[in-house]
Amino acid sequence: MTLKGTENLKKEHDCIVVGAGLGGLTCANRLATAGHSVLLLEQHFQLGGLAAWFRRKKHIFDVALHGFPVGMKKTCRKYWNKEMADNIVPLEGIKFDNPQFSISTTYEREDFTRLLDQKFGVDRATVEQFFDAARSMTFTDDDSMTTRQFLSQFFPGRTDVWRLLMEPITYANGSTLDDPAVSYCIVFSNFMSKGVYTFRGGTDLIIKMMEEQLERNGVDVRTKALVEKITVEDGKVTGVIANGRHLRCRSVVSNGNLRTTILKMLPPGVISPEFREKTEKVRMNNSSCQVYMGIKEGETIDPATGDLLFTSTAEEFDAEKMLDKHVTSRTFSIYYPTGRPGHNRYTIVSSTNARYQDWAGLPLDRYENDKQALAEDTLVHLEKYVPGVRDKIDHLEVATPTTFQRYTLHVGGSSFGTKFEGLQISRGIHDEVPGLFHTGSVAIIMSGWLGAANYGVIVANEVDRYIREQSQVAPSAG
Ligand SMILES: Cc1cc2nc3c(=O)[nH]c(=O)nc-3n(C[C@H](O)[C@H](O)[C@H](O)COP(=O)(O)OP(=O)(O)OC[C@H]3O[C@@H](n4cnc5c(N)ncnc54)[C@H](O)[C@@H]3O)c2cc1C
Repeated sequence: MTLKGTENLKKEHDCIVVGAGLGGLTCANRLATAGHSVLLLEQHFQLGGLAAWFRRKKHIFDVALHGFPVGMKKTCRKYWNKEMADNIVPLEGIKFDNPQFSISTTYEREDFTRLLDQKFGVDRATVEQFFDAARSMTFTDDDSMTTRQFLSQFFPGRTDVWRLLMEPITYANGSTLDDPAVSYCIVFSNFMSKGVYTFRGGTDLIIKMMEEQLERNGVDVRTKALVEKITVEDGKVTGVIANGRHLRCRSVVSNGNLRTTILKMLPPGVISPEFREKTEKVRMNNSSCQVYMGIKEGETIDPATGDLLFTSTAEEFDAEKMLDKHVTSRTFSIYYPTGRPGHNRYTIVSSTNARYQDWAGLPLDRYENDKQALAEDTLVHLEKYVPGVRDKIDHLEVATPTTFQRYTLHVGGSSFGTKFEGLQISRGIHDEVPGLFHTGSVAIIMSGWLGAANYGVIVANEVDRYIREQSQVAPSAG
């Protein structure tokens, strides 16, 4: 059972995982199955991090369950359990509506090839070459080519094609045309392999299943446990200070914000000036705004509306414009009762990318006004896709970048971790401070449900090696 706080803990653990986002949860589970004693400390009262949900009236709202690639099925089967993997199901109704085109798609390579050929008039051979080139990239590839350069090679001047290929990825991880092509290509190819998937039962169910498995594997999971500092002795990690207590361990994995972990949680002087300088230069990805709408009991939404609607009134794709407080692009996720068996409510979540600085530090009345304006504008746009929706809603709530910052402690309320340069820092921290590792959203590639969970596994393997090297004998079971 998950307990609150840091009372009654073992004297020492093989590993303390700081933060129960998808990266931290998966890392903790892997380490426990490898036989290590693991303590998982989460500052919030709920596990999941950005994979969050909340209840209002009789509604359950999913915050970050809009869609992920099919790879999540394999990841859950391999690193969690089959039951979890079996609940991963395809999303069928994906639509785009913008001044350049209005289409429905399964969001798979075959369907995109058909659309690019028949609707956009692009030569099939070029489309195949584009897909093959995107698919061949790996995260160790050269990062000097930008997505703009990559797309220009295949579709010069075709801003409509760029929009089709890019807009959903910008929603999925905040990447822009000026970010490295490698990050775009990996994420895009992951989606294109078999379309977009979701978790039947909702975020609350998947996190509950994870929590139960952690318990079965002997992980001590604590909520309301804020890690303030990481302790280091003789150059090596020795524990953390959480809720004011020193908890000892042989290794620490931080699933918290990368910059905060290195620049705020470590004692002064333990990292080299060069590493500090590089960390200071790591840029955070953008944040988000969301409008959550609960539909009254007895009211319905026509399933033909679709599941995921990428809508925009902007003339062309523009990642900067997508961050603007004057919103032109929004994704509507429609949740039908079939997606949460046993529950009879429909909900709608509107997501937009956003800048933290547009929302932070506003006087309270201005902040509330701006939230209301966003809600009203969202309703006006949603009417086009769900006529009469305003009268069907009995709960409406707005989250802004400051909401995301408050619940996850991410610098700037970042929704998708860091820009590409964060990868080198996240991967390199262990060389600076032996015993300290980082997992979770970095570099666009390692973000999203699939990226974060997979990165948790990669890091768990490294921690396992480290602990074994340190003890030179198999560690005791937790
Ligand atoms: C609005 C929105 C929509 C999204 N939609 C999708 C989507 O449809 N599909 C998709 O694949 N991805 C989506 N994402 C992204 C995805 O949810 C995240 O990339 C992923 O969940 C991040 O996992 P993580 O491991 O990086 O941890 P995070 O979720 O960032 O969690 C980190 C955890 O660490 C905890 N923590 C931080 N500091 C401390 C501390 N000092 N002590 C203790 N605990 C601490 C935090 O409370 C948090 O629980 C979305 C994100 C947002 C914001």
